[in-house]
Amino acid sequence: MLWWLGAVLFLWLALRELYYSIVPKPGFLQPEPISWPYLLIALGLAIGLASVPWRKIRFEQFLTAKARILSESDQATVHCNTFFDTAVDPMALAAGHANPETGEIVLQKPWCAVLRKYLKHPQRLDDENIFSVQMFAHEAMHVRGERNEAVAECQAIQRYVRAARLLGVPEASAREGGLRYYRSLYQQRRQIGGMLAPYYSVECAPGKRLDEALPDSTWAR
Ligand SMILES: [Zn+2]
Repeated sequence: MLWWLGAVLFLWLALRELYYSIVPKPGFLQPEPISWPYLLIALGLAIGLASVPWRKIRFEQFLTAKARILSESDQATVHCNTFFDTAVDPMALAAGHANPETGEIVLQKPWCAVLRKYLKHPQRLDDENIFSVQMFAHEAMHVRGERNEAVAECQAIQRYVRAARLLGVPEASAREGGLRYYRSLYQQRRQIGGMLAPYYSVECAPGKRLDEALPDSTWAR
């Protein structure tokens, strides 16, 4: 919101400069000659400020389109929380959350930025990037209808490679990220326990009860 306000302010200053180059100011007989540096700086700042929320909207639209495919639900929408959104979000402590009733997926700060950065440089794979893809897939599984955390997490693990490919990640990075999440980060959740314990299940493994035997499963050979 503040970005838009700033953009409108500088756009107004630019238009005002243009206006007074055509129409004389009150009390003046002649219009003032236009100050090109002033006009260009004001316009540049207006565009620069507006581009920040605009890029966020475009990224949300991109994630929404991919979440609809992954969740197999036309209801899915993705919202990237700003600092102010998080301040009034009753689930501010969760890195992300989804509402199976409305299809709304919310990713907290800074996870949209982490994901966007990873998609720009998909060869730079690290634990944060991997977690941002897994979280996107996990929330999509809630929208798909799964409310149980351990089951949604396991469904997301099996669809990690599918999700990463949908987002435009090359095959090698998608597969390495999915396997690294399953073999390392997911297994750590079991050891850490506590708040993470409900997300883990020993049945989430190839051939076990939660294996959906997907043809493109992360752990399929
Ligand atoms: Zn969840």
